[in-house]
Amino acid sequence: MDCKEGIEIMADNTLIELSLEEIFDLARDTLMAHGANLETAEAVAKNVTKAEQDGSVSHGLFRIPGYVVALKSGMADGHAVPIVEEVTPVVFRCDAKNGLAPLVHEYCLGKLTDAAQRFGVAVVSIKNSHHYAALWPEVEKISEAGLVGLTTVSYLPWVAPAGGKTPIFGTNPFGFAWPRPNKHPIVIDMATSSMAMGEVQLAARDGREVPLGTGLSTSGELTTNAADIVKGVLLPFGGHKGSALALMVELLSGPLVGDKFSYETEKCDEQKPGSTQGGQFIMAISPNILSDKDWDSQTEEFLKRYAAIDGTRLPGARRHANRKNKGQRSVNAKLIEKIKCLRDRK
Ligand code: NDP
Repeated sequence: MDCKEGIEIMADNTLIELSLEEIFDLARDTLMAHGANLETAEAVAKNVTKAEQDGSVSHGLFRIPGYVVALKSGMADGHAVPIVEEVTPVVFRCDAKNGLAPLVHEYCLGKLTDAAQRFGVAVVSIKNSHHYAALWPEVEKISEAGLVGLTTVSYLPWVAPAGGKTPIFGTNPFGFAWPRPNKHPIVIDMATSSMAMGEVQLAARDGREVPLGTGLSTSGELTTNAADIVKGVLLPFGGHKGSALALMVELLSGPLVGDKFSYETEKCDEQKPGSTQGGQFIMAISPNILSDKDWDSQTEEFLKRYAAIDGTRLPGARRHANRKNKGQRSVNAKLIEKIKCLRDRK
């Protein structure tokens, strides 16, 4: 098989079954075959396996060929040793040294949560990191320490601001988690674009229309034609409100943490596909210290009312329900063939 590097929307959607262990091993071994050391490969493989287990397949094995490109081109360093500096007792600066984000988080989240548990709040600015994943793993980890977590990451400039036709924002996700002692946390993890670019590419491949407002054609017209949007530009969700949030994410993930705006990332990364380099903002807050009330009972009372409204569910609940199943996962067979080919080709 000719295993093309880089992520690819597979035309053939035949599925095969893999156990979570097989998913982990395949991810780890493929990354190690292309220049990642064991520490990096295991950190990323854990993240990829969690995504497959939770049913977030666009951040599972699908990403491995992209990681391979970044490792092989030297854009990301598979042997990076991130440096975490304590600037004040509650402010940390992390130079990721070009490492992949799941590894970088292993270096800084413990310090962040210890400080927030002690002092009420703590932040870490991460720069020179390759965030190519979902954001819930890091905020969920923060919530497991009894803390509220908030994080932002910017990405390549694919999204035009409200009223405009030229992209300047990344798909700019934020992650937020709220702790619930002895229960799953509330976890919100979302891009500020109307739709993920991968979803629009899938719709283009399948000839499906996307909702009006998803993006603009190359001539700057609103269109439901996904292929035209892939060539054109995405829009933020929710008009000017999503656009404002995307701007907030650009500012928090760029100048606040000493890293790049999305347009600067694009210039740096040139035409190389794979994981782009940039910054991440992460904050942890202790409700035990900030609130002088029983915040947990107050939250649960609110959530009882929320759950009583027909048709609702909490953000994160879909993934947490999927997670209970520790059995095999259905994965795109062509993707597995491609990853195995990459693993064996070296
Ligand atoms: P979705 O629109 O699928 O989901 C956004 C949030 O809404 C999730 O927390 C989801 O929870 C929740 N949700 C969905 N449906 C409901 C519902 N009916 N009721 C209540 N809550 C609901 O996510 P996006 O497509 O915007 O983002 C997908 C992923 O892409 C994210 O993980 C994001 O971090 C990642 N991403 C990463 C980038 C990077 O540079 N690293 C760039 C852009 C995106 P649930 O999970 O339970 O469904």
